[in-house]
Amino acid sequence: IKWKLDNIPSTYTGKSRQNYSKSLRKKLKEHHYASTYQPFTPLPHTLHYINRTTSEETLNQINQTVTTSLYFTLDTESIQIRQRKNKPVLIQIQALVSHHFSVIFIFEMCHLPREHTTTFNLIKNLITTIFNSSKPIYIWGERDELTPFVIYNLFSATQLSLTNFQNLQDKFKEQWQQQHPHITSTISSSDLTHECVCEKCIGKSSHELWSLQDAVSYELKEWLDKRSTMSYFNIGLDPQLSQLNLKEQQDRQKLTNYAANDCLSMQRFLIKMQIITIAPTTTTTTNIHPSNINHENIEPISSDDSEPEPEREPEPEIEPEEQQSQRTVTFNTPLSILEPKKHEQLSSEERKKIHNRICTIKQRHRYYRHELTFRDIDRRFTIRKIKNILRQYDISFYAVNVSTSSTTNTKTLYVGIRDPSLIQAYDQRTCMLFSTHHYNKINSRQRRYHSSSHSNRRH
Ligand SMILES: [Zn+2]
Repeated sequence: IKWKLDNIPSTYTGKSRQNYSKSLRKKLKEHHYASTYQPFTPLPHTLHYINRTTSEETLNQINQTVTTSLYFTLDTESIQIRQRKNKPVLIQIQALVSHHFSVIFIFEMCHLPREHTTTFNLIKNLITTIFNSSKPIYIWGERDELTPFVIYNLFSATQLSLTNFQNLQDKFKEQWQQQHPHITSTISSSDLTHECVCEKCIGKSSHELWSLQDAVSYELKEWLDKRSTMSYFNIGLDPQLSQLNLKEQQDRQKLTNYAANDCLSMQRFLIKMQIITIAPTTTTTTNIHPSNINHENIEPISSDDSEPEPEREPEPEIEPEEQQSQRTVTFNTPLSILEPKKHEQLSSEERKKIHNRICTIKQRHRYYRHELTFRDIDRRFTIRKIKNILRQYDISFYAVNVSTSSTTNTKTLYVGIRDPSLIQAYDQRTCMLFSTHHYNKINSRQRRYHSSSHSNRRH
């Protein structure tokens, strides 16, 4: 690329020559960041798409989450249409539930429900809850970027003018200037190894705005992949919106990660710049614990009980590049990104526990979106047995998971179902399974003698 930049063909002239050299320079910078830094690593989070497939129940839950959140970050995506103004298509809002855990909402403006429907009004209410809360909403730039979105009738221009938007881009520049004055390498010998990173020395003029990518590179020493900037964010990113093949799923995942990462990198700045105050260290463990998310209402489970179904759900082969960007939607974020201070206070045992738990919840999110629930199952059913029985009943499942309630000590079985349209049929077919009665029946058949207990423990 560098060679190309130095040798732009003479056929390119004037404006097109400028554009060509600008796009090459961008590519060169992307390449430089990509080869210098590790890919950007977000903090743990979950993600919801908001569109016409989002259920009323989910929207109500989200409204709850949003009400209890303290801060928000916001970003938008638009698409370019030849000879026309940019079309606004996505609004990404991140709700910071605790300091290290957040929920990302991607509002797909081209796939909203029809106006005046119940779900449309719920989405509108959700936006109102966020915008009218007077809680700070951090954006990388001016609130103007939201103005084109008023055409979707989810909020008005007046509403925007009253919302507590905070320009993080300006705050970042200000802080960078304060904390990075020009250093001449002659001051002390130890400074010789450090290049000066004052704005002038890194080639930024005093009135030039910082791109999010530059800020991530210089402040976080990570590479925020910007190669998808000009993509079609209007295609419908939620896999629920249409039937997709693997390639289409991966493309949408990539764009989703891209859209979410802008919010997630702002969150990292809020912490790094100490705009979000860190909670007292004594509560550190509970703060980073994903179980704090009340709307998820996940019962304590041990990770040993959770087993993905390997035979029917082969992991798709992913190129290394995709694999990195896929981290965005997982909880599997290394704990090393936490403040070192906090990190040391957790014993390795504790860290492992948290990690396991995060992984378990992550799996549950992936597999149990559509699930059959069996309460109070007989505890003699092993995972292997359960799977065999499900296969006998021709239930196509992703994974099974057994959780033990810490209060009642009863076991609940969750079965993640592949095809949500079959869930009712499955439910009818399986409602008598996994009770004590069922267990005894199988056993008596197998061993050819009758068990004494016939109590049915299924409620
Ligand atoms: Zn300098």
